[in-house]
Amino acid sequence: MKKRLSIQEYTNGIISGNRMILSRAITLTESNLPEDIQLAQDVLESILPHTGKAIRIGITGVPGVGKSTFIETFGKYLTSLGKKIAVLAIDPSSQLTKGSILGDKTRMEELAHEPLAYIRPSPTGTSLGGVTYKTRETMLLCEAAGFEVIIIETVGVGQSETYVHGMVDFFLLLMLAGAGDELQGIKKGIMEMADLIAITKADSGNEHQANLAKSEYESALHTFPPDGSGWFPAVVVCSAVNKKGIAEIWELVEKYREILTKNGKFVENRQNQNLAWMHNFIKQSLEQNFYTNLNVSTKIKDIQKAVSEGKKLPIHAGLELLEIFYEKVRV
Ligand code: GDP
Repeated sequence: MKKRLSIQEYTNGIISGNRMILSRAITLTESNLPEDIQLAQDVLESILPHTGKAIRIGITGVPGVGKSTFIETFGKYLTSLGKKIAVLAIDPSSQLTKGSILGDKTRMEELAHEPLAYIRPSPTGTSLGGVTYKTRETMLLCEAAGFEVIIIETVGVGQSETYVHGMVDFFLLLMLAGAGDELQGIKKGIMEMADLIAITKADSGNEHQANLAKSEYESALHTFPPDGSGWFPAVVVCSAVNKKGIAEIWELVEKYREILTKNGKFVENRQNQNLAWMHNFIKQSLEQNFYTNLNVSTKIKDIQKAVSEGKKLPIHAGLELLEIFYEKVRV
């Protein structure tokens, strides 16, 4: 690994928009070496006053729905408006697809060449929700580097969406026309999280199907109770290939930001997300400390066996292990 920079060098580099230093800072936050963890925290702390100004957009949909093509077109539209945009891709390193879905370098190639755009795939092999998973930190670093729109792309059908929803302002769900929800593996819970549904590939004779799907999803959205944000989720049809619906989607994002900023929900949502981030971190750290505790790990196998065989009540076994963890074992 390259020589570490000082906190000041990282901070100045990031704030002045130096891409190379930004990338190195992101790599630093992804490191698990204790000295890197401390330095990364110091860097994050010092760039914090420069964060928070971007609009954070989560984009999801099943593989093949057209996410990368959409982000390429959408991203290029935004850079044509003079906006600086960062795309963070979350790669769940799926067992099924044998690794990297998003690591493919040919994805978003044109956008990658735009001077105002920055694309950062997450490293492969990181587990979803695991401690090595640093999308939030990466987002903050990009904001400090002056990116005005942060897009977080996720592939998956559940856990990764919930995770991303917890860190973005606006959640965009891409759907295909003509395929049932079940076929698309989109659960009701994910639809409920959407601030906007875009029906993709509304071109080449597929327009009618797309419009039908739009009406269907509009009716489906009406069955969900309002979430109290003052925003009602919209459905649009789009074509990344024909650049249709792209400007409309951006307009809706802006309108959303305007409405929620006015009624205070925009800030409230971010405050809640920060609190949830803290609590999740505490939970994860406690859990990790527990399971890596030497006393616990030497005893846990026998206790698990007793529970499996029905010799111990799970609650009693849990209490016993917690006592071992807290070294309150009675002599
Ligand atoms: P992802 O897996 O969700 O990222 O989907 P991709 O962006 O890789 O797109 C999957 C396939 O759909 C590719 O063959 C694309 O060329 C095609 N595709 C994506 N967007 C459009 C579109 O707007 N219109 C048409 N006709 N095809 C599209």
